[in-house]
Amino acid sequence: MTLRLSQLIGGQARPALSEAWLDVHEPATGTRYALCPDADGEDVAAAFEAAQAAFPAWSTLPPSERARWLDRLADALETRIDDFAAAESRDAGKPLALARDVEIPRAVANLRFFAAAATQFASESHHGQAGLNYTLRQPLGVVGCISPWNLPLYLFTWKIAPALAAGNCVIGKPSEVTPVTAWMLGELAREIGFPSGVLNIVQGLGPKVGQAIVDHPGIKAISFTGSTAVGTRIATSCAGNLKKVSLELGGKNATIVFADAPRTQLFETLLRSAFQNSGQICLCGSRLLIERSAYAEVRDELVARAKKLHVGDPLDAGNQQGALVSKAHHEKVMGHIDLARAEGGKLLCGGNAVQPPGRCEGGWFIAPTIIEGLGPYTRTNSEEIFGPVLTLQAFDDEDEALALANATPYGLAASLWTSDLRRAHRLAGRIDAGIVWINTWLERDLRTPFGGMKQSGLGREGGQEALRFFTETKNVCLNLG
Ligand code: NAD
Repeated sequence: MTLRLSQLIGGQARPALSEAWLDVHEPATGTRYALCPDADGEDVAAAFEAAQAAFPAWSTLPPSERARWLDRLADALETRIDDFAAAESRDAGKPLALARDVEIPRAVANLRFFAAAATQFASESHHGQAGLNYTLRQPLGVVGCISPWNLPLYLFTWKIAPALAAGNCVIGKPSEVTPVTAWMLGELAREIGFPSGVLNIVQGLGPKVGQAIVDHPGIKAISFTGSTAVGTRIATSCAGNLKKVSLELGGKNATIVFADAPRTQLFETLLRSAFQNSGQICLCGSRLLIERSAYAEVRDELVARAKKLHVGDPLDAGNQQGALVSKAHHEKVMGHIDLARAEGGKLLCGGNAVQPPGRCEGGWFIAPTIIEGLGPYTRTNSEEIFGPVLTLQAFDDEDEALALANATPYGLAASLWTSDLRRAHRLAGRIDAGIVWINTWLERDLRTPFGGMKQSGLGREGGQEALRFFTETKNVCLNLG
């Protein structure tokens, strides 16, 4: 039976006002299994009205009360982790274990983290120079949170939780490619009686309902995670009325391995950082730079391990890699692999679509692919592919490693592997990236600033940075004379 999703508007489950629907596909089988509301500006207007009406009460609740609501939502989600994980795995084609053990628990953690942060959010005072100054950080009003398909509930909650914690009312929009778990979260909010209109979730296409959120004159800020192309368009739209905007965009992250890299956990981590979630994580290391003296060793070990990764049904615990999220994305990644061949790249493994027998034979799978022999300014080494595709390049010294690492328009993350901590510190300061990991990858402390430079974004999320983004800062100066 086809699942029919709804939107959450003013505490009610609603279809699109136009009653139009979009097909939702299961990536592992390639079949349609759900219908998602195809909303437009009329739905955004209705969500805005509900959010605006809820704002006075929500924004004046003591932070500890707002925290209690976020905790209740986290508790409800935690009791349903298995259901949400199954839904996320089905909707995005990702291994069930990844959704169950990492992503849905992280969505719970996001809600809990910002619940606690709401109670700890403080502001500065300055005195002794010119009167007594104190800083107010006040909620903005109604804000828009727009998220992508790669980590659907994880990134959706990463935005809505700080927005709500800071006292705003939210209009959230998940990706139309993976709308199911945001819909389920909306249902959970209704079940626990989350205050009506505080959290609204609209569903549908980016250029239609997403753009309507961006363009709505009453919406005070846009927090967006997605592609650089769309982020740039959103920044342009927001510029007209100076709407506050936070952009978390694409990446082409370098992993730099020196010959003295500690081998403990090295190969496991390199493999994960290239192929976790089929390489569809903005933080994946898609360009591996290896010191020449260790090049052959690292390449051969990695290729041997990549060949052993099982690709197939995300529900089968024996498979480490599931499907790519959509037919269009599968075609895009296969096109990049063809381009790499045309640019003269040598494929060391993979490069082919995979058709697992049985239930998943119509799914959108690609084998883990490793390519060498391409220079830093080829399209393969400059453009975000966002699939299970890793390129290898060799370097001779620290300066060359740095030049290669920085030779892309992006600047999201980097991972450095060396036993020489002085060198690690030196390079960490010079790499164009918002996040640098040393001898690790994807370790996250939610208090740290998260985001990228160059074409990877504008602003930072995480901890205090997110609460500051979702508030207006006001200085109050009291004459003590
Ligand atoms: P996308 O830009 O196509 O879409 C992201 C979201 O924006 C979706 O909800 C979409 O419906 C919406 N959207 C599209 N056009 C819009 C418009 N004109 N106005 C408003 N909203 C619009 O991105 P995607 O394909 O869903 O996600 C993959 C991209 O996201 C990759 O580039 C990846 O690197 C990036 N990403 C970045 C981070 C980060 O933290 N920097 C994290 C995850 C993903």
